[in-house]
Amino acid sequence: MIELLFLLLPIAAAYGWYMGHRSAKKDQEDISNKLSRDYVTGVNFLLSNQTEKAVDLFLNMLQKQETENEIEQSSQFEAELTLGNLFRSRGEVDRALRIHQALDRSPNYSFEQKLLAKQQLAKDFMSVGFFDRAEAIYIMLVDEPDFAEGALQQLAVIYQKTKEWKKAVNVAEKLAKISPKDDNIELAQFYCEFVRTLPADSKENAQQILQQALTVSPSCVRASMMLGEKFIEQKDYQSAVKILENVLTQNPDFVGETLPMLKECYQALGQLDNFELFLIRASQASGNASVDLALADLIEQQDSRASAQSKVYQQIGQHPNMFLFHRFIQYQVEDAEEGRAKDSLVLLHRMVGERIRQGFEYRCTNCGYQTHKLMWCCPSCRQWEKIKPIRGIENQI
Ligand SMILES: [Zn+2]
Repeated sequence: MIELLFLLLPIAAAYGWYMGHRSAKKDQEDISNKLSRDYVTGVNFLLSNQTEKAVDLFLNMLQKQETENEIEQSSQFEAELTLGNLFRSRGEVDRALRIHQALDRSPNYSFEQKLLAKQQLAKDFMSVGFFDRAEAIYIMLVDEPDFAEGALQQLAVIYQKTKEWKKAVNVAEKLAKISPKDDNIELAQFYCEFVRTLPADSKENAQQILQQALTVSPSCVRASMMLGEKFIEQKDYQSAVKILENVLTQNPDFVGETLPMLKECYQALGQLDNFELFLIRASQASGNASVDLALADLIEQQDSRASAQSKVYQQIGQHPNMFLFHRFIQYQVEDAEEGRAKDSLVLLHRMVGERIRQGFEYRCTNCGYQTHKLMWCCPSCRQWEKIKPIRGIENQI
């Protein structure tokens, strides 16, 4: 609604000039009054949220003024630009394209005005998925200081859609120079995506690029995890442990994702005791169900089932959740004597297990999209790093 009001401002300006011009001519009073009534009606439609009717009315008014050629050139340019935008907003992109192309080609308009027309033309192409044509215009607009930032942002959108990650990195790096950010999540994710496309024998240094991702976005868990994988491939377990344990500081919600790799490293180093110390620290800091379950598993493996059971009991008291409760009932089932009480516990264990299996493992904290697989860009709202492990963010039963 607010956007539409802004969109209609040029029409109001053009119309103001038109009314002033018209009011000098007494014989035109009837037409002026009719247009004045139309304008008030249009604004009323807008204010009562009947945007479709308002757009129809304003389009009609603009077309009338256009045919009577009563608008001065600069106002006409703005009015036509807006007319095209209105058509695009209604999904009539072919009409929007024709108007914006005509403005771009017209000898009557200045270089700056044509840049504005080109910008809208590119938006028209974007809206119908002609990314290559939009890309060509945006590449040209990057050289114009007033248009560069917007053009680079749109190019980043295009390269994400086409999965051209090297190009995405290039435009995001240019954007970072124009408007620097302390935590450039998008650029870091582009680095990570680019590294994924590199063949094993690539000359590009994957580790350096991932370190660069951490420099531009120190909270980038994905870069830490990818670096951890690279160190493990090289059997550099100490470095892997260092980078993977840092995830607890970066974002405790994701610490569960690192545990299989961390366990592999500590096992290779023969330091499972240190893994236990890390899990105790992570449990206290994060209250993450995956950490608590991994700790119970390790205690059972290193010590005894009784110790694991008492640990789980203690953790349920500190941060109750469905996953720990399920494990707790499992211990109770194993300890129970045959009979009705055990049958009830088995049934309860199965029901809670079923409830856990029916649930999703990851959820977008922005739009609520749920998935069984960790994704770094939400396919629903297209936001980076908004999908989080439910075991990390949902601790209550
Ligand atoms: Zn989302």
